Amino acid sequence: MKLIFERSRSGRGLGLLPPCDVPRCELPENARRTGRPALPEIGEIDLGRHYTELAKQTHGVNDGFYPLGSCTMKYNPRINEEMAALPGFTGIHPLQEEQTAQGCLEVLYRTQKALGEITGMDAVSLQPAAGAHGEYTGLLLIRAYHQARGDLARTKIIVPDSAHGTNPASAVMAGFKVVNVPSDEHGFVDLDGLRAAMGPDVAGLMLTNPNTVGLFDPNIRTITDIIHEAGGLCYYDGANLNAVMGIARPGDMGFDCVHVNLHKTFSTPHGGGGPGSGPVGCKEFLAPFLPGPVAEKKGDTYAFAVPAQSFGRVRTFCGNFLVVVRALTYILSLGKEGIPAAAQGAVLNANYLMKKLADGGYEMAYPGICMHEFVMTLEELKKETGVSALDVAKRLLDFGIHPPTMYFPLIVHEALMVEPTETESRETLDEAAEVFLKILDEAKNDPENLHTAPHRTPIGRPDEVTAARTPVLRWKAE
Ligand SMILES: *Cc1c(COP(=O)(O)O)cnc(C)c1O
Repeated sequence: MKLIFERSRSGRGLGLLPPCDVPRCELPENARRTGRPALPEIGEIDLGRHYTELAKQTHGVNDGFYPLGSCTMKYNPRINEEMAALPGFTGIHPLQEEQTAQGCLEVLYRTQKALGEITGMDAVSLQPAAGAHGEYTGLLLIRAYHQARGDLARTKIIVPDSAHGTNPASAVMAGFKVVNVPSDEHGFVDLDGLRAAMGPDVAGLMLTNPNTVGLFDPNIRTITDIIHEAGGLCYYDGANLNAVMGIARPGDMGFDCVHVNLHKTFSTPHGGGGPGSGPVGCKEFLAPFLPGPVAEKKGDTYAFAVPAQSFGRVRTFCGNFLVVVRALTYILSLGKEGIPAAAQGAVLNANYLMKKLADGGYEMAYPGICMHEFVMTLEELKKETGVSALDVAKRLLDFGIHPPTMYFPLIVHEALMVEPTETESRETLDEAAEVFLKILDEAKNDPENLHTAPHRTPIGRPDEVTAARTPVLRWKAE
């Protein structure tokens, strides 16, 4: 397909700028362009067709099933967008006087309260811009706590090998050394390995739960006890809270702080990299260290406050405010009954699809009941037929299904990680299962067709390394 610049013809164009209704003022000479900007010139109908054609070349949640594990590309209710587009929210200025921004402060305050309730935490900061940023913020809380007690020996963070990859990275960014503990054969934290890692240098633990293989660790209370007895604190990576929200709370499992991903669990579209939001919640004793400002309520008035021993800001102003608006809309429209129902739907859908695929011959990395997602291993299939997880993922595209997450988590070989989400109907899951099983059959009878898939998409198999390392994202005028 042609680029918009290739469709451009000099002299065509929209020219729809309204007449100027403010006094003209000349820019200083050094701030002016020397030539015309290289903008495409194209009529309205051709422009509309161009973008429609572009949109048809990609696959989104509105096109079909999108079971991308660990990312929760869920359906985002349109009412969230309507709320986030209200002029009172989009037109607000962060430096406005508090008394003129009471509605926005109320949104921040009520979201803090709701997330505190859902996670079982006493205080929440909405500043972090994403999940990994929330992890980093939570670790700075742990560091500030130990430092305030004058305990400077605690330099290590324990990270199980089933943690999300961002966990060790955030720990290092926050100045800690990472100690890995292995998983046992069921995919849970190895308790003996954990006990062996304890000592006076342990600052805390970072645990992803449900973990990256989609399992809820049944020893969770024992794990947090082991850390607390050694004087450490417990951090909960709640990026995938959609399996447990409204049912189990990190605060009740013994965790001291947590982050959640509003752009995963609380419905903000996050394809293409943002914007996100990774609020951090903590227990009362950590609240004084939170980044500020946080929203407070005094009588009937809302105001900003900076916690007494705050370690400083992690982002400008209050974070990604419109993502917070969407999350609050989602929470309020689901309500106290809807939130656990969504979690139950997510878990039910994942188990339903897992059972169908397991019965049909796919090998599960960890058989048994899963949470909101499950991981298959295609290692044996590859040995038998030469067909890899990548081949299966590519072939799914021919049937209008977005590939699951591939080759993640790293502890499972030839992994495909499938997350249906709660919004999919039984019919969609049945159709998807049929496609998966058809592909398995093809792997045994016509593997070549899989090695060359997809056959029906605008682009087949780009060189993934080059595409990731040196993407061409800009058109340059001659
Ligand atoms: C997605 C994810 C993260 C990172 O979140 P970002 O918003 O991408 O930074 C961390 N932990 C888990 C378990 C996740 O699934």
